[in-house]
Amino acid sequence: MTYDSNNIFAKILRGEIPCIKVYEDDQTLAFMDIMPQATGHTLVIPKEEAVTLHDLSDQGAANLIKQVKRIANAVKEGMQADGITLFQLNGEAAGQTVPHIHFHILPGSILAARAH
Ligand code: 5GP
Repeated sequence: MTYDSNNIFAKILRGEIPCIKVYEDDQTLAFMDIMPQATGHTLVIPKEEAVTLHDLSDQGAANLIKQVKRIANAVKEGMQADGITLFQLNGEAAGQTVPHIHFHILPGSILAARAH
C-alpha cells in the first residue's frame, strides 16, 4: 500500500505534532494515545514507513515486536497490572484509522471494560 507521508504518525515522527513520548530509539517511537481506552494506553510505532504489517521489512517487524515486548513489560510494571492487552488493527478493513502501523498496549483488559 502506498505510504502517505502526511499521516498523523508521520507528523509525530517528524516532530510536527507533539506527543507524550514513552520511549524512542533510532527505529522505534512509543507514545501515549491521545484518546486512551485505559490509563496508560500506549502506542508503539516503527520509524520505517509502513502502513500495515505486510509493508514492514522482516528486520523492522522483528525489532518492532521486540520493542512492543519491552514496552508492554514497562506498562505492566508501571501500572501494576496483572495482565496487558495488545492489539494491532491491520488495514482499513480491520478498523485501522491511522495508516502507519502501530501496536496498542493497554494495562488490563479492554474486553472487561467494554462488557460493563
Ligand atoms: P487505530 O484505530 O488506527 O488502530 O488507532 C489509532 C490510534 O491513534 C487511536 O487510538 C487514536 O486515539 C490515536 N491517535 C489518533 N491521532 C492521534 C494523535 O494525534 N496523537 C496521539 N498521541 N494519538 C493519536
